[in-house]
Amino acid sequence: GWDFKGLLKRNWLLIATIVSVLLGIGLGVVVREYASLSHLHKQYFGFPGEILMRMLKLVILPLIISSMITGVAALDSEVSGKIGLRAVVYYFSTTIIAVILGIVLVMTIKPGVSQEAEHIDRTGTTPNVTTVDTLLDLVSFQLLAWYQNITKDYKIVGSYSDGINVLGLIVFCVAFGLVIGKMGERGRILLEFFDALNEATMRLVQIIMCYMPVGILFLIAAKIIEVEDWEIFRKMGLYMVTVLSGLAIHSTICLPLIYFAIVRKNPYTFTLGMAQALVTALMISSSSATLPVTFRCAEENLRIDKRITRFVLPVGATINMDGTALYEAVAAIFIAQLNDYSLDVGQIVTISITATVASIGAAGVPNAGLVTMVIVLTAVGLPANDVTLIVAVDWLLDRFRTMINVLGDAYGAGIVQKLSRRELERMDITSDVDVTNPF
Ligand code: ASP
Repeated sequence: GWDFKGLLKRNWLLIATIVSVLLGIGLGVVVREYASLSHLHKQYFGFPGEILMRMLKLVILPLIISSMITGVAALDSEVSGKIGLRAVVYYFSTTIIAVILGIVLVMTIKPGVSQEAEHIDRTGTTPNVTTVDTLLDLVSFQLLAWYQNITKDYKIVGSYSDGINVLGLIVFCVAFGLVIGKMGERGRILLEFFDALNEATMRLVQIIMCYMPVGILFLIAAKIIEVEDWEIFRKMGLYMVTVLSGLAIHSTICLPLIYFAIVRKNPYTFTLGMAQALVTALMISSSSATLPVTFRCAEENLRIDKRITRFVLPVGATINMDGTALYEAVAAIFIAQLNDYSLDVGQIVTISITATVASIGAAGVPNAGLVTMVIVLTAVGLPANDVTLIVAVDWLLDRFRTMINVLGDAYGAGIVQKLSRRELERMDITSDVDVTNPF
């Protein structure tokens, strides 16, 4: 028969979250309509949501450190090299597919052609970010500065390095994990320490997730009260349709096809298993802050091997951003269309390459993709200032592209697990350090 009670019981958190999204929208609309809140009251109103964001941000530091270090140390370097390589090939190929899809759509729909651009405000400061900054961030990791930055809001204008540098953290953890893996018996102590740290962090995450429906309700309600210009959505309609349909096609056709071709299982069951993480990403527009939930969905619902998730998810949350790459390509060509600037084939290729680089360079925090847009625009000679043309709708598009970024990471874990099953099986027989047991 149909086990309705069991279904409710297993998915209560997801159901509660979705209900709170709907309630939050309703509450936001009602308060916006009938109460005029002062600035201070708006802040109070946003408080429960802000608490959720901060709690999630706080656990990602111990989570990334413990999962990356144990993930790398528990595999021998040959195996982790192979798994890493597979992950990187997956990240790259799916990002390129997303970029190409975006370019095809924006060239067909032409959202920027013959649209009245003078309605859109052209003033603003240019964020500055270069490819060199991205490279430098690989080897500049400062724990305290990182912790400070993570708790303050990410600013669109300002130096890129002021943001959260997860990339540098990951590089450090991989190096540290490799060293521990080679230390023998003494290294084992550290490995067990970080494994316990990981378990403790995931238990904290479990508690935070119980608070999630409340936090999300107020996050979305506060956002609805705060948005000043709804009219802009109509003006930018076609552009938004282009980005959103690209994201929809990538997530419901491209990624599932690749997954099915390799894993031979139902991709939509897979997507459903990730639902909690997807809703979270949609609500908080940050892949990094969603990471704790991504982990839980991948390990608990989809039963992906921890040796894979510990490796593929944190790195993916930082460098694998299909949604952002697609968005950057669409946005750059949209801006070219607004400027009546015709692009030759070389420039289109340049856009695809720089959009990929820009998505890798973007940190997993809100609006990061908007900042790295500058790389794409300047590469083809468009005014970097024109980022300001699309700022007004970015808060909405950011949510959707973050959702696709997270989904891409999860599919990556599923696919890399399948491709690495032989190495994993061999390790099951020879290894005695067990980091695979769910608690
Ligand atoms: N907010 C996105 C993320 O965290 C990055 C972006 O702005 O595109 O994945």
